[in-house]
Amino acid sequence: MATEKRISLVECQERFGTEQQCRDYLLKKSWPSSFVCPKCAAKQHCVLANGMIQCGTCRHQTSVTAGTIMHRTHVPLTKWFLAMYFVSQDKRGISAVQLKSTIGVTYKTAWYVLARIREAMGQRDDTHQLNGVVEFDDTFFGGPTVGKKRGRGTEK
Ligand SMILES: [Zn+2]
Repeated sequence: MATEKRISLVECQERFGTEQQCRDYLLKKSWPSSFVCPKCAAKQHCVLANGMIQCGTCRHQTSVTAGTIMHRTHVPLTKWFLAMYFVSQDKRGISAVQLKSTIGVTYKTAWYVLARIREAMGQRDDTHQLNGVVEFDDTFFGGPTVGKKRGRGTEK
C-alpha cells in the first residue's frame, strides 16, 4: 500500500520509450539479480537482435515477455506499455477506439491489447489499485513469483 506513486506520461515515455528499455525492464522483472537459464541454470547469456535472450551455455532461448500478457505478440512493446499506462490511468476504462488512435494501431490490435490488459486487470479486481507503479508492474508484467513486493531496485 505504501507505493502510491503515479507516473506521468512523460515519465512513462522516458522509462519505456524504446523497445530496448521495455525489454530491459522485463528482463529485470523476471530476473531481478541476473539472468539464469531456465534450462541449465547458467548465467552467461546474450540478448539477440529480436530481443530473445540466449543462454551462453546451452543456447536455449528465452523471451522476456514469457509469462506476461505481451507474450508472442507482434505489437511493439512500447505500444503495450503505453496502452497499459493509459488503462492504469483511467479506471473507468479507455475504449478500443480511443486506444487505437492513442497508441497508433489498428482497431483490431487495440481491441486485442485492451482485452489482454483487462484480463490481467480482472485477476485483481479486488484491489483496483492500478494507479501505483507497483500495481502497474505486477498486474501487467506479472509480479515476482517469490517474495512479492520486494523494494524497487532502481539502478544505481
Ligand atoms: Zn542454458
